[in-house]
Amino acid sequence: MKKNLLKLLICPICRKDNLKLIKIRKSNNIEIREGEVQCKYCNEKFQISEGILNLLLNPNKDVLCEQKGWERLKKAVKNTDKLMLSLPDACGEHKKYWKGQAENFHHIYSELNLKGDEVTLDLGAGRCWSTRFFSRRGCYSIAQDILIPKYVGLLTSDIYIYKEKIYFERICDAMEKIPFKDSIFDLVFMAATLHHSTDISITLKEIFRILKPKGRFVLINEPVKGIFRSEDNNNPEIEAGINENSYRLSKYLKELKKSSFDYKLEFWLGGNNKITSFIDMKLQKILPNRCIDNLLWRPLKYIQLLFFDGVLNLIAVKRQQ
Ligand SMILES: [Zn+2]
Repeated sequence: MKKNLLKLLICPICRKDNLKLIKIRKSNNIEIREGEVQCKYCNEKFQISEGILNLLLNPNKDVLCEQKGWERLKKAVKNTDKLMLSLPDACGEHKKYWKGQAENFHHIYSELNLKGDEVTLDLGAGRCWSTRFFSRRGCYSIAQDILIPKYVGLLTSDIYIYKEKIYFERICDAMEKIPFKDSIFDLVFMAATLHHSTDISITLKEIFRILKPKGRFVLINEPVKGIFRSEDNNNPEIEAGINENSYRLSKYLKELKKSSFDYKLEFWLGGNNKITSFIDMKLQKILPNRCIDNLLWRPLKYIQLLFFDGVLNLIAVKRQQ
C-alpha cells in the first residue's frame, strides 16, 4: 500500500473519512509492506500485511464460508506463477477452460478505449489478473476482494508487481460495503463476480455511489440462468460452499435500472460454445467484424440469455442525477 490510497478511503466501521497511517513496520522501494492504519474518528485499527490493507474486520458467516470454499478449490487446480502470468489467455491444459473468458475480456477491454488517466476499481478481483491490465494502461488501479491467499486472492498480485514491474493497490473487504468515498472512480470492473454477492441490489447501489457521474461499470463473464435451465446444479464452487448464486437476465437488468444505470449489453463471443464460435469464425471470413456483431450476435444475445444459460457482458454508465 502507498500512503496516497488513504485519501480515497472511508472507515469501513464508522464510514467517516479520517484514516491515518500510524505505523510502518516494513517498507521497500515500492510500497509499505507491513504497517497499521487507524480511523481517527472511531479509533479502529487496520493492518497492512504483505502490502495489502485489510479492512475486513469480523467477516460475516457468508464471507467466512466463501473464504473456506476457495481455499478448498485452490487445491483442485495446479497453480503456478506461469499460469497466473498467462491469464486470462492461460497456458497448457488451462487454455480451454479460459478461452471464452479471455475472448470476452479482450473484446470488452478494447471497447473501453481507456486513456490511461482513469481511476479504476477491480471489484472482486481475486487473483488480480484483470487489475494489471488497467495498471499497464497507466490507470490508478485498485483491486478489492475478500480473499487473500496466493493463487486465489490478493496475494497473487505480488507476482504481477515484481515480475511485470507494474503497480496497483490491494484492499481486503466485502463488496456489499465498499470502503471508498463517493464519486471517485471512472471505472468499476467486475469479472464473473457479481453473482457471488449476497445482495446484488446493495452491491450495485454501492458501485453507483463510488462512481463519478458518467463513470462506467463493466461486467464480464457474469453467469446468467436461462428459462430452460434445470435447477440441479453440479457446480464445484457450490459443493465447496462458495456463495454461487445464479440469476436470470431480467434480475440483473431490473437491478441496474433501479440503481439508475444506463447500460448496453455486449454480445457474447462464446469461446466455449462450439456452435457460436464456429459460425463466428466462418462469418469473419466474409463480413467485417462490426457487421457480424450488430446483425447477428447482438439480437441473438437476448434470445440466448433469456432461454439458455450464458454469460453477461455489459457496459453500464452512471446516469447524472
Ligand atoms: Zn471509523
